[in-house]
Amino acid sequence: MVAGIALSPPILRTVVKAPTWTYYYHYRAVNFALDQAALAIAGECSRMGYEAFPVPASQILDWDRLRAHLSHREVAGLAGLGWRGRNNLLVNPEFGSQCRYVTVLTDLPLPGGTPGTKAGSCGDCRRCVAACPAGAIHEDPGDFNLDKCAAQLRRFVKSEKISAMICGLCVKACGGERAARKRGLQSD
Ligand code: SF4
Ligand code: SF4
Repeated sequence: MVAGIALSPPILRTVVKAPTWTYYYHYRAVNFALDQAALAIAGECSRMGYEAFPVPASQILDWDRLRAHLSHREVAGLAGLGWRGRNNLLVNPEFGSQCRYVTVLTDLPLPGGTPGTKAGSCGDCRRCVAACPAGAIHEDPGDFNLDKCAAQLRRFVKSEKISAMICGLCVKACGGERAARKRGLQSD
């Protein structure tokens, strides 16, 4: 089971060339809210007599490869919430990559989703490619360069004095239909 919380567009707008403290605080607040939601869901599963394991929203276990218990975005993709974008994040049709997810592993019987297609779903959009300062994003999502991305995040930790491996630039670039509607309103 996967749940998501959309990020705030006004806060993402503070991210221009590097992650900001405002974005960092928001990122932490959303992760905390996701963990609270996962706890509540797990508690409800337990109350119904099923096992449930709330997976931490953001707990890195392997700092070299930036790996956690599992990939929430892959679970969300399998649940039908979007596709793997050029930026290596899940792209939801409504929120783009501006959404964070949490997973609850459970034996509660649930309806399955329809996994998003892996390739081609970004169409002719290249917004994240242009936004990435590390050159980590390429035409094919399979060519995403994790080493370049991780090196950039480490540079941001030092230059912005933020104690988290975050960036936000390709997230800000990928706003889905929510952002497209906003752009339409602004051009009216
Ligand atoms: S910004 Fe565009 S190209 Fe990049 S992941 Fe999102 S939809 Fe795909
Ligand atoms: S998180 Fe930053 S460095 Fe990594 S791919 Fe996205 S824009 Fe590039």
